[in-house]
Amino acid sequence: MREGQGIMDTDVSTSSPIIGIDLGTTNSLVGAVVSGFPLVLADSAGEQNTPSVVYFPEDGEVVVGSAAERMKVLHPTRTVHSVKRLIGQRPGEPGWQPDYQVDSSGGGLVVRIAERMLTPVEISAEILSALKRKAEESLEVSVSRAVITVPAYFNDAQRKATIAAGEMAGLTVERIVSEPTAAALAYGMDRREGRQKIAVFDLGGGTFDVSILEMNDGVFQVLATAGDTRLGGDDFDRLLVDKLWSEFSRVNEISIPLADTEVTVRAQLLDAAKSAKHRLSIDDTAEVELPFFFDGKHLEVTLARQQFEDGLKGFLDRCAGHCRQAMMDADVEPADLSAALLVGGSTRIPVVRRLVREVFEQEPDTSQNPDQVVAKGAVVQAGILEGSLRNLVLVDVTPRSLGIETFGGLMNVILPRNSTIPAKAGEVFTNAVDGQSAMRVRILQGEREMAKDNWELGRVDVPFAAASRGQARVGVQFSIDANGVLEVLARNIQTNQDTVLQIENSAVDVADERVEKMIEESVDHAFEDMAGRVFTEAKLKSDELLPAVDAALTALGDEIDVEMRGRIDAAVVNVRSALESQDGARLKAANRELDEATEELASLLVERAMLESMERKGLI
Ligand code: ADP
Ligand code: MG
Repeated sequence: MREGQGIMDTDVSTSSPIIGIDLGTTNSLVGAVVSGFPLVLADSAGEQNTPSVVYFPEDGEVVVGSAAERMKVLHPTRTVHSVKRLIGQRPGEPGWQPDYQVDSSGGGLVVRIAERMLTPVEISAEILSALKRKAEESLEVSVSRAVITVPAYFNDAQRKATIAAGEMAGLTVERIVSEPTAAALAYGMDRREGRQKIAVFDLGGGTFDVSILEMNDGVFQVLATAGDTRLGGDDFDRLLVDKLWSEFSRVNEISIPLADTEVTVRAQLLDAAKSAKHRLSIDDTAEVELPFFFDGKHLEVTLARQQFEDGLKGFLDRCAGHCRQAMMDADVEPADLSAALLVGGSTRIPVVRRLVREVFEQEPDTSQNPDQVVAKGAVVQAGILEGSLRNLVLVDVTPRSLGIETFGGLMNVILPRNSTIPAKAGEVFTNAVDGQSAMRVRILQGEREMAKDNWELGRVDVPFAAASRGQARVGVQFSIDANGVLEVLARNIQTNQDTVLQIENSAVDVADERVEKMIEESVDHAFEDMAGRVFTEAKLKSDELLPAVDAALTALGDEIDVEMRGRIDAAVVNVRSALESQDGARLKAANRELDEATEELASLLVERAMLESMERKGLI
């Protein structure tokens, strides 16, 4: 044997496996490539699923998984479930009120467990630590690197929070992968030839996501995503819980509302409902029996699948609506789709599969275990990164538009929603006011027209020599890496001085205020009255719109035609009376109408500003 031959590379990057993690709202899974196969790993009891539940005992070790789930009944305020909701929420959706205590005061969102305060990142880190241990026990090697999946709509801060949680758990997060992309990998879609479009339908415990992906010879791209973070198996459980309780109280002539019963009674009922639901995925009926259930009385109810399916109708209609929306956004027809993939435990329900068949007009692919596909895809991605599996490129998209605030408080989009990442784009901006000596660049994320309706990711002031209006030039460049992490560069074009915005990349500092703030902002309405919030938000918009329209009419009023003027005036009156009515939904609609009515007026204003600037420069 020649010298050096047969010597193993002991570099940790090649000897330690990268694990793939599906960090789910309800259930989490971990896997790795073993002997060339992507596998989901089990604990010593053979359990592959780790419920995403964390129990914090008064003293002693934190408990994660099924054991923690059992503690939920006894210690509901010490047991944290669905923490992923506290990290990620679809923008514009209402907040969520868990059983445990969440405080949004003090500069960040925290879960309060008696005397302890825990951030969502810290709690997620407990789940990730448990998954890391599970993998280490199963693989019998230590593990330090991971691929973690997140919903396709997760924004920058939510992705970073996930990375931060991984690092807190002692894992280097090699890649964040979107869940639908992971699912498509697990279904082997990357091995199909040519150009294909597929739908990924993911109905889990508490969330629904639908995505349209495009593959081109193994290269993926998410064309569109839609969904609802308040729709899933939990709703179906509640439906059956209510059914069981109403049957039980009718037969036994009990008039107490379920909400007024002991927590253990409700927990028992939920358990029974869930297993009945699972049985109804196979059988036409499910018998539920709970001896000495309440007040010494037995519960005996037979649930019928048909009845359950009738109850699901409203939920399924919402799913179908999102599917159509996603197809519309991606500009595809059902006939363009070469596969419909099922993801999430709730897609085991027969009527859900029927819905998928109807809306995408084809048989769904049932070849994989729907509650494991995301984890399996994460493992495939891990295998690709460590070189133990086939090679392919993954392409993702930006889930939300990214841009900056410009004159008049408007959102100027630089990277539109659904741009393929990694991505880079830039624009040159100029000063709006005479004598201005700095430009404030506010980085925004969202789809709303007004800057303040979108999320602020950060801001930077770019100084320049005092300039008259339209003279200073600042180039702003956005670049997003493969993890969906954003870097913003602002350049003073005169001096070539660059300012790179402190939106940290993957090695995010957990205590970072901006990340905390973003997470807080994404959930800070969690405890507010929904209707009140809708109204307040709408009123903010009206307060901005009305004076702006007033000013524009004063400046340009005589240049617009009577018909347009009439429409604008009517819309203004509408907004004012909606303001008086205190009706949020009505005000929102009135604002939108006014927005639309003044669209032309706004572009006239811009034209006018451009003309003026050209005149000043002597161009015309
Ligand atoms: P998540 O992605 O939200 O973490 P999962 O994909 O693991 O969740 O889905 C969990 C949900 O799937 C739960 O509501 C569970 O009750 C439901 N589920 C699992 N198996 C079945 C089944 N056989 N029939 C109906 N629902 C099921
Ligand atoms: Mg899931």
